[in-house]
Formats: sequence, C-alpha cells, structure tokens
Amino acid sequence: MPDSPAAVSYLLKLGELTLKGENRGGFERALRRNARSLLRGTGAQLIATDGRYFIHASEHASEKIEFALDHLFGIAGWAKTRFCEKTIEAVCKACVEEARALLASGAGGCAVKTFKVEARRADKSFPLESYGIMAVAGEAVLAGVPALKVDVHKPDAVITVEIREKAYIYAGCRKGLRGLPVGTAGRGLLLLSGGIDSPVAGFLMAGRGMSIDAVHFHAYPYTSKEARDKVVRLAEILGRYTLGVRLHIVGFTDVQMRIKENAPAPWTTILLRMAMMEAAESIARQERCKCLISGESLSQVASQTIENIRCTESRVTLPILRPLIGMDKETIIRISEKIGAYTTSILPYEDCCVLFNPKHPALRGDAGEAAAYYEQLEIGALIEEAVRERDERKPSFSERRHPS
Ligand code: ATP
Ligand code: MG
Repeated sequence: MPDSPAAVSYLLKLGELTLKGENRGGFERALRRNARSLLRGTGAQLIATDGRYFIHASEHASEKIEFALDHLFGIAGWAKTRFCEKTIEAVCKACVEEARALLASGAGGCAVKTFKVEARRADKSFPLESYGIMAVAGEAVLAGVPALKVDVHKPDAVITVEIREKAYIYAGCRKGLRGLPVGTAGRGLLLLSGGIDSPVAGFLMAGRGMSIDAVHFHAYPYTSKEARDKVVRLAEILGRYTLGVRLHIVGFTDVQMRIKENAPAPWTTILLRMAMMEAAESIARQERCKCLISGESLSQVASQTIENIRCTESRVTLPILRPLIGMDKETIIRISEKIGAYTTSILPYEDCCVLFNPKHPALRGDAGEAAAYYEQLEIGALIEEAVRERDERKPSFSERRHPS
C-alpha cells in the first residue's frame, strides 16, 4: 500500500450482492474483475479484506478513480478515506484533519456545524473498544476544531473510524450505481436507435448484470453518416458502464424499400419493426445473446400501443426485455442525463423508422393481418443478407473511459 503523503485510499461499500447468499462469491469475483478493468491504467490497487474493498493509489490518479467508481455497477457507495497507523493518537490526528476539511469544504455542498464520530473495530486487538474510540476521537475534534459541535442525533457530518489492518477515517459516502456487476446475467442484444430511450434501456439492463451488444439499423443513403456516427458515440457512452458495447450496424435500405413498395402505407412501420426484430434475433443467436432489449414505452408513439407491440414481437421467440415499458418520458430523460447520454441523444438525426413514416399509421394492428402482410413480403432472404453484411464496431471504452 502506498504510504507516502501523496497516497489516496477509497472504501467501497457493496450493494445488493451482499444479499446473494451462496452465489455471493461469483458476484464478488465479477465485481473485482470489472473494477480492475475500469481502473486499468491508473496504477490503483484493489484490495479485498474482511468483506471490505479498498482501493489504494497515488493522489494524482484520484480523478480517474472517481470516474471509474461512478461507472461501476454493484457498489452502493464509496468514500475517499484517510488511513494511518493503528494508534489512538494517529486516529485522533486524522479525525481532526478530516474535521478541518469538512469545515472548509462542507459535506455534500452543505456547511458543516455539527458532527459525530462512529467507530468500528474489526481488529479486536486494538486496545480501545468502539465506544472508547468514538469518545476519545470526538474529544480530540472538539479540542482541535472548536467551531464544530457534537450532535449525536442529527449531525451535519459523520466521521467514521474503522480499525482494520490499518486505521481508516472517512466522512461522507458518495452514492454508487448499485445494481449487480455487469457480466453476471448473460448477454443481451440492445436495439439501439439514435434516440433518448434505447441507451437508457441498455443502461438499466446492464444494472441488472447484463453484458450488452447492440444493433443499429440504418438506411444509407437516406439516413446520413452523421446519424450513424451518433449511434457509435452512444454505444461508447453506454460502454463506459458495461466494459464496452459491441455494436452491429445493419444496412436496412433494401428491406425498407421492399416494405414500402409492397405493403399498405399504414402498415409499413409495424412491418419494419417486425423485420428489425427478426434480424436482431438472428444476430442475437449468432452472438450468444440470450434476449433482445428495446427502448419501447407503452403508448409513447403509435408503434408502441400494446396491439402493435404484439405484432412487433410476433416473429421472434427470444425474450424481449423492455425496461422502460411503464416509464414516462420525464423519468427516462432524467436517467439519460444522469448517464451522460442526453446531449448526444438530442442531436438532430434521422432514424430509418421515420423515413417512410406513413401519415396515418395503423394504431392497433391486428396480429393476424400483420402476419399475412409480412408473409407476402417474402423478406427473409433480404433480412439474412443484411445481417450477413453487417459492420461490427467495438468502440474502445478503454481509451474513453476516463476524462481526458
Ligand atoms: P428511441 O428514443 O430509443 O429512439 P423512440 O421513442 O424514438 O425510441 P421508436 O422510434 O418507436 O421509439 O423505437 C422504439 C424502439 O425500437 C427503440 O427504443 C429501439 O430499441 C428500437 N429502434 C428504433 N429504431 C431503431 C434503429 N434504427 N435501430 C435499432 N433499433 C431501433
Ligand atoms: Mg426512435
């Protein structure tokens, strides 16, 4: 462990995976693997002891480490900690330093006037019990930082002392993403448009442990290169949370033309969605994805009425996960902003779906009728060709994962 003054440590608090009983080991292994991957290049060391995770590094890596921790599913929170020798004198000194820092910069943006000290003694050979540590360190803070008062019921800040192989002192814990470590729930194939919803859908499923591949359908030259670049960028942003996203880019111009020229106009959107799902399922099977993921939200647009959703999924047998199905747009936008996708998602672009958008789309398509129109198109070979000819990209999360 780096012990120089320029060293920095972080304590990670585990989230839901502590509830995993016998499976906990597998979840923790995945968490460690993901954390090490995100921390690569920072020189940080991840150490797991007594059910606690610590990161030790040098101070200049702290911005990158904090960026990594903000993108790691499976942790409930994290705190930057001081550490010192296991003597009560050293602990008191570190508590006073922490209290001075709190007084100077506040906690979570609020001024700090009151505090309390909490202590946990994992190393029982430490001569003082937890209560004794709290009392002595509390006195030291009162003496060293007279502007602060003790409030044991509703303090502005809690200074925590943990006695382990060293003594750790921290105040304030930043919220983690929670959820489960990516890679513990198989792989899903996300239908990624250039809009707001689908990146959010991918993010939510990654938070349940899914690794994410994505497929994007474009209709070049009717859709632009910029529209396509934007989707690559969205895959890159999502990939910061998922240790990368492999993106499959499928040219769907011929499929769309076949639909436009051979189906009644009100049905074209539904039939295109059916074709997209069929193509996506074919890719999913080749890439060992266990499900499809879409950004549909019930009744958000004409193609997302429950009747049309039934038509859309009628050609596929893999499960289709729709994590946004019951969410309103404002909630979805809030998540989009939080994950850093929103400003890219709202850049003007044209999606292939709106290209031949009928003026009066069928709002409540009958599944039998949809199947009959779809059969008439004899579109299977065109879809397979589009899938075969797809482009594959894996935007590098390793270069982009840290702020430059
Ligand atoms: P988004 O904001 O994700 O574009 P949306 O509200 O615009 O969604 P639709 O255009 O009806 O809704 O699309 C519904 C879902 O279908 C999308 O969330 C996405 O999962 C999928 N989808 C739509 N267009 C494409 C595309 N060009 N390539 C891949 N998937 C797509
Ligand atoms: Mg869209």
